[in-house]
Amino acid sequence: MLDAAKAALRKAVRPVTFSGAGLSAESGIPTFREAQTGLWAMYDPMALASPEGFATDPELVVGWYNERRRNVASAQPNAAHCAMAGRQDIVHVTQNVDNLLERAGANDVVHLHGSLDRDKCSGGCGHREDIDLANPLPLRPCPLCGHWMRPDVVWFGEQLPRVGWLRADQLAAEADVFVVIGTSAQVYPAAGLIATARRADAIVIEVNIEPGATPGIQLTGPAGRIVPELLSL
Ligand code: NAD
Ligand code: ZN
Repeated sequence: MLDAAKAALRKAVRPVTFSGAGLSAESGIPTFREAQTGLWAMYDPMALASPEGFATDPELVVGWYNERRRNVASAQPNAAHCAMAGRQDIVHVTQNVDNLLERAGANDVVHLHGSLDRDKCSGGCGHREDIDLANPLPLRPCPLCGHWMRPDVVWFGEQLPRVGWLRADQLAAEADVFVVIGTSAQVYPAAGLIATARRADAIVIEVNIEPGATPGIQLTGPAGRIVPELLSL
């Protein structure tokens, strides 16, 4: 399977990766549900990652995100991020909101679900601020319009950033090899990119620690081991 996948990648003209939380798991960044341990175990995802949850208790939501930010700041890119960053010929589309691909050196990353390293105004005035992940700012009002500032990530029920989504959809539609890494592919519309690539006759390669159910080339094992093997020339 690995040889078949490597042969497909060697011939690829428009290879694309599509990653999820499993890519960063070996860097010690918990997947969404795993992140609700300890203090956060009593909250459901809708309370922490939805516009309604933020309206109900903005301080709680910002506190949870700031804890995730400090966790990302102290994490290091793993071997999978580094191998991906080393392939400048591949565009990386990710659902992850961490910055580990960029910190590994990748310069073309499409973030479908936003980034932890930015805040935006919840009132929609368009004001944004960069955030130092190691020292995130507490809940505070937008300096332009007074609404609360919030993390610039996509919450349940929200639309994906338009420019990133259109680019990812086009990349999937034109890909000849589409490498799916560490995602349960349950969150739409992002997960629909796999079907888009398949409709375009792309060869789909799936790297996951669990055996996948989707057709294509399955590489079962941790991303930190499989991805460097797959992407080495
Ligand atoms: P998910 O939690 O639904 O699925 C994670 C997948 O990764 C699973 O299929 C699991 O089997 C696999 N996996 C776990 N460890 C792995 C490893 N070491 N190697 C390979 N595969 C491994 O994550 P998702 O599909 O990304 O969807 C969850 C949503 O939560 C996304 O929208 C994402 O934006 C968000 N999220 C992001 C981060 C992050 O930025 N690092 C972390 C948690 C959640
Ligand atoms: Zn504002």
